[in-house]
Amino acid sequence: MLITEYDVLIIGAGSIGVPTALATAGDGLSTLVIESFPSVAQGDNKHAIGGIRATHTQKSKILLCKRSIEIFSSWEQKFGDDIWWVQGGYCFLAYTKEIEQTLIETVKKQKLLGLNIDYVDKDRIKELIPGINEQGLLGGTFSPEDGNASPLLALNAFYRESKNRGAIYKFKETVIKINSNDDGTFRVITNKNSYATSTIINAAGGNAREIGNMVGIDLKIEPESHEAGITEPVKRFFSPMIVDMRPARDPVFGDSKNYYFYQNREGKIIFCLTPEPSIKGKDRRETSNFLPQICKRMVNLLPRLKNIKIRRTWRGLYPMTPDGNPIIGLIDDVKGFINAVGMCGQGFMLGPGVGELLSRLIRNELTNEDKEILKELSYYRDFKGEEKLK
Ligand SMILES: Cc1cc2nc3c(=O)[nH]c(=O)nc-3n(C[C@H](O)[C@H](O)[C@H](O)COP(=O)(O)OP(=O)(O)OC[C@H]3O[C@@H](n4cnc5c(N)ncnc54)[C@H](O)[C@@H]3O)c2cc1C
Repeated sequence: MLITEYDVLIIGAGSIGVPTALATAGDGLSTLVIESFPSVAQGDNKHAIGGIRATHTQKSKILLCKRSIEIFSSWEQKFGDDIWWVQGGYCFLAYTKEIEQTLIETVKKQKLLGLNIDYVDKDRIKELIPGINEQGLLGGTFSPEDGNASPLLALNAFYRESKNRGAIYKFKETVIKINSNDDGTFRVITNKNSYATSTIINAAGGNAREIGNMVGIDLKIEPESHEAGITEPVKRFFSPMIVDMRPARDPVFGDSKNYYFYQNREGKIIFCLTPEPSIKGKDRRETSNFLPQICKRMVNLLPRLKNIKIRRTWRGLYPMTPDGNPIIGLIDDVKGFINAVGMCGQGFMLGPGVGELLSRLIRNELTNEDKEILKELSYYRDFKGEEKLK
């Protein structure tokens, strides 16, 4: 069996693996990406609805996503591919005093971290979202620099450019075993082949825990099922991603936490909901509960949606960690093994920023800011906090 050597071997051609290959290959590292599916983006990347924001509460995610937004927003100008980037902003709505208070507190912190975000009054929200249900509406946040793009178009654009830069992809190949050699290198064994490398990046999304097990570590990642849907296209009538954080009780179809939706470049509304309790596991089969749950909530919030037709729904995974933040970086006991896992509901937006950070990590070119990010997202943190805006 032929064994080829690579500087970096990335497991998974998804939201994280592909932009990481773009960065490592661009920085001159010989890069191999191994993917079970026949092409890029076919894991949970294509289940993402395409929201991209820097307005988080963790400094690490803010910095990573700020860089991601620079990459998404300038992509077409630099490389010519239209990835459907729209800088429409994000609105988190307040219909209760409690949520209003949380948002006001969060905005204060976000402003200190340099984010362009404000808590705005009801009238401004009504301008941003014409026809929104005013009953009980108190206000909300607006962050105009956030936006959205097509996860499939973006990943395919990153893929093509990463290949121009020399990255090599092996599709329909699954990593089944990792052998650590005495000299600190690895032999990665797939169902078809065997490869030598000094650095492995675990970017296996919902399967990241299994890859960790192959080198003897237990990553605290538990995938959760989330559903989404898309409507027919209609004339654009709002621009931001709308996030309604209120919980809702539904004795027939099941309770839910937040839901969020936006109108994409084609005018289609794309929507997604967080079930309560969360549904643990890897089940990606659509349910008949999702549409009755979310349609009732969306039409109540924005009554003019009541006649729009839904084209299809789908279900995918959030690879969750106990605190809702990713695990990124090296492991003390397994030299050369890097995790970029547990992206929760934010892997698409984190991808480009994470990719560049990992390339600097491999090349020993970390900045002080990078070190702060890696500390906050370390495998060794206590996982006690919780992301408020997950
Ligand atoms: C309904 C829904 C809506 C979402 N909306 C958003 C959103 O608006 N914005 C956002 O940023 N995120 C969103 N997400 C979350 C986002 O989809 C995930 O966080 C992201 O895709 C995870 O990226 P990843 O690269 O870790 O995993 P993936 O994109 O799933 O990539 C992992 C890849 O690894 C491959 N792989 C796994 N094991 C092996 C192996 N042993 N050998 C070879 N290959 C392997 C898989 O086949 C897969 O292609 C959403 C998710 C869902 C389900």
